[in-house]
Amino acid sequence: TLKGKSAVVTGSTSGIGHAIANALASHGANITLNGFGDPAEIEATRSEMADKHKVEVRHSPADMTRPDEIAAMIADAEKAFGAVDILVNNAGIQFVSPVEDFPVEKWDAIIAINLSAAFHGMRAAVPGMKERGWGRIINTGSAHALVASPYKAAYVAAKHGLAGLTKTVALETAEHGITVNTICPGYVWTPLVEKQVPDTARARGISEEAVKRDVLLAAQPTKEFVTVDEVADIAVFLCSDGARSITGSLLPVDGGWTAQ
Ligand code: NAD
Repeated sequence: TLKGKSAVVTGSTSGIGHAIANALASHGANITLNGFGDPAEIEATRSEMADKHKVEVRHSPADMTRPDEIAAMIADAEKAFGAVDILVNNAGIQFVSPVEDFPVEKWDAIIAINLSAAFHGMRAAVPGMKERGWGRIINTGSAHALVASPYKAAYVAAKHGLAGLTKTVALETAEHGITVNTICPGYVWTPLVEKQVPDTARARGISEEAVKRDVLLAAQPTKEFVTVDEVADIAVFLCSDGARSITGSLLPVDGGWTAQ
């Protein structure tokens, strides 16, 4: 049980982050949600999670491109719940383009949200975890933390960077009861994937149906999308005491993609 523990999950108003937050709440953790969206929908998500699991749930609007807002989000959660025991660095965006046309501001945004935000979050949360001698840091990586695909220069670079950050901070915290790991999902059907289908179709000059069949699921031997709940189950396991020796690891949940 995670009763009494406090978890911050970035990018949890949608997709994988929402599923992870919900799963941690179902095991008793108090939750700080984060991410963008319609304020009424976010409030509905927040109150539903709190009521369903009988835990406290707050929402931080911190923008993951802003180091100061990330530090304030961690400090606020520590103030509200007494600690940040679990930090899930999950917020992420995607952009698909050949490198020579890749917009510079998209590169900067992807590096900021998908990589640097995890550094800023860890930097702020690790001192409290060390003090209490317990912590769990879970990053949402990707199969693209392990292998590349064309037209995703910034995303693949950021996720490979996250893999290096994971290993480094795992070594620094190994004697403090803290584990740092990155879950590496293959294709999960969420708004992030749905939105890249038209751009990938354009970049490759094929239809959207062909993108799903011949690009996305072609990489995945199971020929099925991974579900958000499968990813959330791994996150819950990593928070358990049974997972205390798993640190610095990159865990593929990718239907066999990176076995090829
Ligand atoms: P999603 O688009 O459903 O959710 C992304 C979340 O991040 C949303 O809550 C959004 O509001 C938030 N976000 C975006 N920019 C932000 C910012 N600047 N500040 C704060 N929050 C911000 O996407 P998803 O598919 O659930 O992706 C979540 C993570 O999983 C990402 O890191 C993504 O790279 C990774 N991932 C996704 C897949 C997939 O197939 N969907 C596969 C592997 C890894």
